[in-house]
Amino acid sequence: IRLYVEHPLGEAQTLPLSREQAHYLFGVMRQGAGDHLLVFDGKCGEWLAQLEQAGKRGGTLRVLEQTRPLRMPPDLWLMFAPIKKARTDFIVEKAAELGAARIIPVQTAFTNAGRIQRDRLQAHAVEAAEQCGGTFVPEVTDLQKLPALLDGWNADRRIMFCDEAAPSGAPVLPDAPGPWAVLIGPEGGFSDAERQRLRGLSHAHPVSLGPRILRADTAAVAALTLWQQALGD
Ligand code: SAM
Repeated sequence: IRLYVEHPLGEAQTLPLSREQAHYLFGVMRQGAGDHLLVFDGKCGEWLAQLEQAGKRGGTLRVLEQTRPLRMPPDLWLMFAPIKKARTDFIVEKAAELGAARIIPVQTAFTNAGRIQRDRLQAHAVEAAEQCGGTFVPEVTDLQKLPALLDGWNADRRIMFCDEAAPSGAPVLPDAPGPWAVLIGPEGGFSDAERQRLRGLSHAHPVSLGPRILRADTAAVAALTLWQQALGD
């Protein structure tokens, strides 16, 4: 069992378990006092811990020793337009598994979702990190409007602008130094004005992911997989 804890971890600490954590450990996973588990905080690596007190509404665990240091993913961001709830959850989960360092939901011209439940999406990133053995949890930011995001963009970070209208046949991953951010549009794609603006930015590189139109969640997974393969971390 691997559990994310918010409190920064260190040797010989006793940490309280939240109601949800206690329910998961003692109710769902049938653990009890004395059982061991791995905990990580996203900052100080992974630690071996032992459950001390077990109760329905809470409990405590004792942090014993470090098992792994923090391993940061490559400095790669995912920016995506939120789509239907389940598919948005899927994108966040897969982005965390595939090592995105930051996840930015973006409101574009054709994005239907006017708001997101950031806490819920962050919880999906935590669950994905618990499940995939990561020691880092990417931050899911608040929803940002694309024009404002581009206005305040630091051009040192290049944008892999995934667009089905981009010419296919060119190498998928642009051959330019990073860091990079992947940008994925909504089900309705990007508007002409957005395309024009992005194509005019020297730090944005239009990229085709092949001759077929992918769903936004497929496109996000495909783009991040390519980066994972290229960056190897
Ligand atoms: N509405 C568009 C259409 O029907 O022509 C399709 C949008 S697609 C469902 C959602 C997003 O996935 C796009 O905005 C783009 O970012 C990405 N995407 C889908 N297929 C792609 C491809 N072949 N190459 C690059 N990006 C793609």
